[in-house]
Amino acid sequence: NQSFFGVIGLGVMGSSLSLNIAEKGYALSVYNRIAPGEENIVSDFLNKADEVMQIKGFTELKAFVNSLERPRKILIMIKAGKAIDAVIEALIPILSEGDILIDGGNSHYLDTNKRYEYLKSKQLHFIGCGVSGGEEGARKGPSIMPGGAKESYQIIEPVLEAIAAKDKKGNACCAYVGLQGAGHFVKMVHNGIEYAEMQLLAEIYALLSITNNNEEITTILSQWNTTDLSSYLLEITINILKTKENGKYVLDTILDKAGNKGTGSWSTKAGFDLGTVNTMMSSAVFARYISSFKEKRKHLSKFIKSDLKVTDVFDVNSLEKAYRFARIINHHQGFELIRLASKTFNWQLNISEIARIWTNGCIIRSEFMETSVNVFKDYESYLDTTDLLEVLISAENHMTKSIAYSLSHRVPFDTFWSAYNHWIAITTENLPANLIQAQRDYFGAHMYQKIDAPKEQFFHTNWY
Ligand code: NDP
Repeated sequence: NQSFFGVIGLGVMGSSLSLNIAEKGYALSVYNRIAPGEENIVSDFLNKADEVMQIKGFTELKAFVNSLERPRKILIMIKAGKAIDAVIEALIPILSEGDILIDGGNSHYLDTNKRYEYLKSKQLHFIGCGVSGGEEGARKGPSIMPGGAKESYQIIEPVLEAIAAKDKKGNACCAYVGLQGAGHFVKMVHNGIEYAEMQLLAEIYALLSITNNNEEITTILSQWNTTDLSSYLLEITINILKTKENGKYVLDTILDKAGNKGTGSWSTKAGFDLGTVNTMMSSAVFARYISSFKEKRKHLSKFIKSDLKVTDVFDVNSLEKAYRFARIINHHQGFELIRLASKTFNWQLNISEIARIWTNGCIIRSEFMETSVNVFKDYESYLDTTDLLEVLISAENHMTKSIAYSLSHRVPFDTFWSAYNHWIAITTENLPANLIQAQRDYFGAHMYQKIDAPKEQFFHTNWY
């Protein structure tokens, strides 16, 4: 008897998702290539699986494919990039018309667009599927963002819904996102929002560390986590701050060099390409880059006199309000990017539904995401709601206080600043862009519009 579903790739995500699928009662086939030194990867995985699970393991691709009932439903859970194309090419000759390939990795949405069209020409279905939740989410219930043709999605919908996390009402945190690479696009933006959310917490940690020890910071953040600011990332930050090994805080032993796998910069670049403002995720990406210049930082820090430090009293309540402010702007930037992509690519994305599938299972799940589900049912943007606008307006002075404190203590605070700059600009009627237009016309004869002339009329001046 053949398996209902197949998984290629038994890495961190693939093995956890496989166990999750098998646990839901689906007969499963799994495959992993035999890389040097990893000869036992499939058998090791099978040993981990529960005896009641119906799982067959393969290291030979053809045998794996033949073990699946048709139409074959295969989740590819491997490293993004060229590896995906290589696996797809190896699969094409041994698949049959109507089979479905699901790429569950963090592939770039433009690659997914291309693969979707390519596989369509081979009479194969292709689903570009964002998956969030890390290892634990994959095992216990991730948030799933599938994109591609709706009729392809419907064939695999029961499996994906069964393994996904559940929202507060018990519905699966999995919903058809849209055509082509829409699922991967949305996952990419999820990660962009995640980058900024993480960096905001890192900046808070830096600011609070000036006058508080880890224990005191834990107390402050734990209090925040009982309010509307509560989130998975805040929760794990609290747990991280508390964790000790051999009597020492683990956090204090970790080198301050942050890595990345590229989705934050992809998300930022998408903002450039589509023409929207992504300053918070970009500042978070740059913060990781600058952290990696450890040697340079160590060298230059020697030239900075420590008496630059000012010790004015800091108000934790202001920082809490500034954090709330910055999170609203971060989510605003992320969802605006999704809204713009939907318009540009005609994906007709349901933004409220995207927020809903992010209320559980994923890394950016939070109380504010629950609020967002309702906001996007009725409004296009957070800034169209009087409630959130009021929160932002009333937090302005707390934001400036926090920023001033970061300045006087030489703490990099770029992601907070980016939030505030965005807010000031978007609420300012007259910006100095008239000068930019004049400069462009001066050196490039790019023309400009006038305040008091119809907008379709353009002017050029023979400048001085
Ligand atoms: P791992 O590094 O744990 O596993 C990678 C898998 O890809 C392994 O099974 C590996 O096989 C396989 N692989 C790599 N190169 C090739 C190749 N050329 N041909 C065939 N197989 C190959 O990665 P993860 O499980 O963490 O990630 C998988 C995907 O999921 C990535 O796109 C990642 O970005 C995404 N993702 C990861 C999350 C996480 O929290 N880890 C969360 C959400 C998405 P082998 O063992 O033989 O090298």
